[in-house]
Amino acid sequence: MISKRIVTLGTSHGDSTRSRFNSSTLLQVGEHHFLIDSGAPVNALMTMGGYSMKALRAVFITHTHDDHIGGVPGLIKSLTKHHVTAPPVRFFFPEAEVAPALQSWLAVQHRDWETGDVAFDLTHDGCIFADDDIRVSGVPTDHLLGAGKSFGYKFDFADGMRIVFTGDLRHDCSDFPQIVREEPCDICVTEATHINIDTISSILPSCPIKRLIFTHIGNCWHNDGEAKLLEYCRDLPFPVEIAHDGDVFEC
Ligand SMILES: [Zn+2]
Ligand SMILES: [Zn+2]
Repeated sequence: MISKRIVTLGTSHGDSTRSRFNSSTLLQVGEHHFLIDSGAPVNALMTMGGYSMKALRAVFITHTHDDHIGGVPGLIKSLTKHHVTAPPVRFFFPEAEVAPALQSWLAVQHRDWETGDVAFDLTHDGCIFADDDIRVSGVPTDHLLGAGKSFGYKFDFADGMRIVFTGDLRHDCSDFPQIVREEPCDICVTEATHINIDTISSILPSCPIKRLIFTHIGNCWHNDGEAKLLEYCRDLPFPVEIAHDGDVFEC
């Protein structure tokens, strides 16, 4: 069985705090690294944690709010400056407008794009990436209320394990992915900004989840609020954990 670890690099929502940066999560699969979201300062957090850019294979962006995509220019700068990876790191964006906008932004910084260090892809519903160990699928959500596209990401491993990252959801969490509600999921990493006590009691109890990790933590659940969130989750039929910046979850 290949080793897998989830490292929650940044665990805040739109505002950073003294101890929580914007959302970015690293998934280590054997020798390879994958990122789910890249809020700022993801490249600095990877360096601080000792997570090699060389091992990065793909970056999966859930939606284009700044707290999820704001670190991408810095990440691309790090990758293109040092030409650290081969093959190119593939970036999966939910909307076609992102790639040309990024290219313009990096052009004014005089960064060379034609290096072959990075490649851009568009996320869609269904399988978007596969290698010997994993199959990654886009899972549509409706966080942007129809004004733009948003996705969760489902990782199916060759050994049978499944991990789903929901990304941000609607305020009533009515777009909590159907696949997590209906099919077994070893680990579900979801957000705790839009979630509330009604969502917890109405949607989560019947989900066949084995382990739930909250990240993208809303202000009311910071510090002393953590105990309150765990108390609301006390009767759920699976263990619940609250992520902090730099936490490592063995899978
Ligand atoms: Zn967010
Ligand atoms: Zn958002």
